Amino acid sequence: MTLILESSIVAANEAYAAKFTPEDVNLQLPPVKEVAVVTCMDTNIMPASALGFKLGDAHLIRNGGGSAREALRSLVVSQQLFGTKAILIIKHTDCAMTKFDNPTIHSLIKKNLGVNADDQDFGSIEDIEQAVRDEVEFLKTHELIPEVVRGNTTGWIYDAMTGKLTKVV
Ligand SMILES: [Zn+2]
Repeated sequence: MTLILESSIVAANEAYAAKFTPEDVNLQLPPVKEVAVVTCMDTNIMPASALGFKLGDAHLIRNGGGSAREALRSLVVSQQLFGTKAILIIKHTDCAMTKFDNPTIHSLIKKNLGVNADDQDFGSIEDIEQAVRDEVEFLKTHELIPEVVRGNTTGWIYDAMTGKLTKVV
């Protein structure tokens, strides 16, 4: 990390911590809203703001594309240890994961790192809506997802240009 970036992050955190009060902290570990959200790491999404979450409200799990498969480990922990009873899968418009395919990233890895990673799936997405449906189906049929959670698993698309969330399934 560059020194300039690091110092700007440290300065921002100092300002944040200066206004921080213990009342902001939910010391009860289970999320107040009993929900886990899986969404993309995209910089244009601020899930807590978009969904109205405060500290302590929900588990937010992020990765490239908002992959439920990649998030499975965290979802199981969220449900088994912290009692969450619902899952929201949120993908979004103009996701960068729709702009490449596996061969593209495989060749970048070869060029940049000299490593053959051709057997790895980096999770590119062809159709966002279909991907939402597939991942909800993946969770609703997975043996590690409890029945009560399967019934409360929904899929959404977030419009990065309007901030609006639309339910798919
Ligand atoms: Zn994305």
